Amino acid sequence: MKAVVTGGAGFIGSHLCDYLTAQGHQVVVLDDLSTGSESNLEQLTGEPDFELVKGSILDKGLVNDLISECDTVFHLAAAVGVHTIVDKPLQSLRTNLHGTETVVEAAARHGARFLVASTSEVYGKNDTDGLTEDADRILGSPLKSRWSYAAAKGLDELVAYVYGQETGLPTVITRFFNIVGPRQTGRYGMVVPRFVGQALAGEPITVYGDGNQRRCFGSVFDIIPAVVRLMDTPAAYNQAVNLGGLEEISIRGLAERVIELTGSTSTIEYVPYEKAYGEGYEDMQRRMPDTTLAGELIDYRPSRRLDDIINSIIEYKQ
Ligand code: NAD
Repeated sequence: MKAVVTGGAGFIGSHLCDYLTAQGHQVVVLDDLSTGSESNLEQLTGEPDFELVKGSILDKGLVNDLISECDTVFHLAAAVGVHTIVDKPLQSLRTNLHGTETVVEAAARHGARFLVASTSEVYGKNDTDGLTEDADRILGSPLKSRWSYAAAKGLDELVAYVYGQETGLPTVITRFFNIVGPRQTGRYGMVVPRFVGQALAGEPITVYGDGNQRRCFGSVFDIIPAVVRLMDTPAAYNQAVNLGGLEEISIRGLAERVIELTGSTSTIEYVPYEKAYGEGYEDMQRRMPDTTLAGELIDYRPSRRLDDIINSIIEYKQ
């Protein structure tokens, strides 16, 4: 395989690059290093089958040139993180909408298989309240929520799907559910590395909301082989496939596990959402993947336990 990995200097992308090169594949990364980092790829620097190109997925000429020489595209580049999305909505939308269109268009032009990283957030918040028009809301969610990210990712899925249908492009959509592991930074609001960083520093662990919201964290080491297997599985083409872990925990429970595993003296501090993200911010109470489809397609069985995942992040951060 000769693969282009967009966003390959990021958390998930860099692990994908490690995996692909270890399997003997050639890899070219396209990344603008906005949230990713060259240091995530330093272990691959100088490898003959690896190249890092610094640039944007919005650069049509560059995207076209790189993809013209490959047979597979893993499209992971995106504007991510609550703060990026809430503080720079226009820039985020541009990256997440036009960027994806640019990449999938080039993949279709050159007949390169295409995988796009989508998110559990496309499932929305499952609000059961009546549907009212509200000046502060669009598409049913507060403007200040991550909804613009979810909406753009939903459209990315549609674009990928339509290209797959109309051009016959082999296309896979993966919906990631709270993937965690080493190299994920806490800078953009990712909860596990942030908690670990606070615990190791002996600072209070800041839990947004009451901490009763529940999440299920998946290991990056479980999902990377799955991503590559899906790309090799024609039955997965033109489908959206959930990938994540199986162990559910409340955010308060997570903070307690982190304190225990780090042996920290940190306390837990509860911060209202409005204070952290501004007025109008809401979060989902529960998010848990059903991975039956991945199980059927590629025998997906995530095996990493939450404690092991947290320990791998503690080790990375120490
Ligand atoms: P990340 O921030 O580490 O990776 C994103 C990468 O994209 C970064 O390296 C960044 O520099 C790069 N990038 C951003 N804009 C770019 C542009 N215009 N041109 C080129 N590169 C650009 O985040 P991640 O967690 O590794 O996420 C990877 C993908 O998985 C993203 O598409 C994200 O939406 C998706 N995802 C991740 C999770 C998760 O739990 N980590 C959950 C759902 C979806």
